[in-house]
Amino acid sequence: MDYALLREFAMRPRAQEETVSYLAEKLSHFVRRMDSVLICLPNQEPGSLSHLMEQAVLLCEGVPVTWGQDHRWVSLLRLAFSSRVSAIVSTPLIALGLSKLQNYYSIPLFIRDVVTAGYPCEEWMIEGLCRGFDCHPRGCLSVGTTGIVAGFSCEKHHGVHIRDDLYQVEIVDEKGVPVPEGEAGEMVISWKGRPETRYAMGENARLFTGRCQCGSYAPLLMDIVPGRTEADADLRKLGNALQSWNSVLDCRIGRSPHGLELELITLPGGRLPELPTVAKQVIRPLNPETDAPFFYDPTQKIRKNPETAIDF
Ligand SMILES: [Zn+2]
Ligand SMILES: [Zn+2]
Repeated sequence: MDYALLREFAMRPRAQEETVSYLAEKLSHFVRRMDSVLICLPNQEPGSLSHLMEQAVLLCEGVPVTWGQDHRWVSLLRLAFSSRVSAIVSTPLIALGLSKLQNYYSIPLFIRDVVTAGYPCEEWMIEGLCRGFDCHPRGCLSVGTTGIVAGFSCEKHHGVHIRDDLYQVEIVDEKGVPVPEGEAGEMVISWKGRPETRYAMGENARLFTGRCQCGSYAPLLMDIVPGRTEADADLRKLGNALQSWNSVLDCRIGRSPHGLELELITLPGGRLPELPTVAKQVIRPLNPETDAPFFYDPTQKIRKNPETAIDF
């Protein structure tokens, strides 16, 4: 279970080249010459997934547009609009947030394809993306932000086909014992060149083998969801329920000695979800001057009585 070793593997020039050509082949199904592709992934160092995606887009003769320094939500919307992007590669919640913003500001984006990476794209997120963009959603199985891409969406299912020439994925129970085919458990990935390096991804999924409807024989991962951090499973569920609303752009939920603390950034005008009783609750409309996705600044604490907030 060694992330450092996987990372070391990912940083080899050969591994990077292979990843770029693998991604370019996947992107070539929908990225055409001069198409702008918006890339919104947190880590932009050399060798990161963001960096390799840029190269893959260039191989398809597309134009990579990387969301960089200015991480405010409005800068994302402006960039997507001014670059006339036709596809976005992003963590699912950033892409979902962008779709809510375009509707809220009535700024038409023409995003036809969404590739999610860096975080499992759950069923409700896929539905939200399809509603928001009228797009074809795809997913990329990335390992953290190492630049390792262990699989890509099947064209027929919501599942992901493992890149089984290089990687092996096993589904195991809490004791680390492989579960029968099709059963849910934790995903463990290993690089075939060094099978003793096994990395537990902290995500759960089901694995299917045999011939897929799309014609591929590569193992198919279905129902990939965050797992392991069971202590926070209830918080994640609540966060999901809130963020599935168009009126909720962003939210964060934390535990304090007093109980749950909740902060919602809303897009005013819409109906708000019913909220649970929590120790502290901040609900405030998007401040376009300052608000960036919480994801980009997880250290920022929930604000105390900001002027614009309704604080209970
Ligand atoms: Zn292909
Ligand atoms: Zn398939």
